[in-house]
Formats: sequence, C-alpha cells, structure tokens
Amino acid sequence: MTPIETDHVCPKCGSAMEIGFLLDNAHVNYFPTIWVKGLPERSFFRTAKIKGKVKRGVESHRCVNCGYLESYATGEWKGWPQK
Ligand SMILES: [Zn+2]
Repeated sequence: MTPIETDHVCPKCGSAMEIGFLLDNAHVNYFPTIWVKGLPERSFFRTAKIKGKVKRGVESHRCVNCGYLESYATGEWKGWPQK
C-alpha cells in the first residue's frame, strides 16, 4: 500500500481507493474544494461568502480500478497546511 492509498474500498467494484482532492478551477489560482456549512450567500466581492462559516477540507478518494470518486469533508479547513 502506497502512502496515498487508503483503507477505503470502492463501493462499486471492491478495489482499493487512493486519496486526492477536488480542484476548484473557478479561481485563477488553483485551490482545493472546501465544504462550507449552510446555504451559499454572495459576498460584496461577488464571490461566495464564507467568512464566519464552518469550513471543512474535502478529501476525495478515487478507486484505482474504476475511477469512482467518494468525498469526505472531515477536518476543519484552517487554510493551507503549515510546513
Ligand atoms: Zn472501483
């Protein structure tokens, strides 16, 4: 098992799943998709208003065999991980 493989099993074909994230390409800069609690609201800057809302990073698991994606919004999003 490589570090990016998970203990998740594909619900479609039973193969191993690997970890990744969903890219939000609406931004000029690449940025991972973040799950935000509640209904979307538009901010003054005409982007989604996320200040003060609960945010979770989205972890996406991909089946190494059939490509099926399964997403989990587990940990609280606190910005980019510190090195
Ligand atoms: Zn599969």
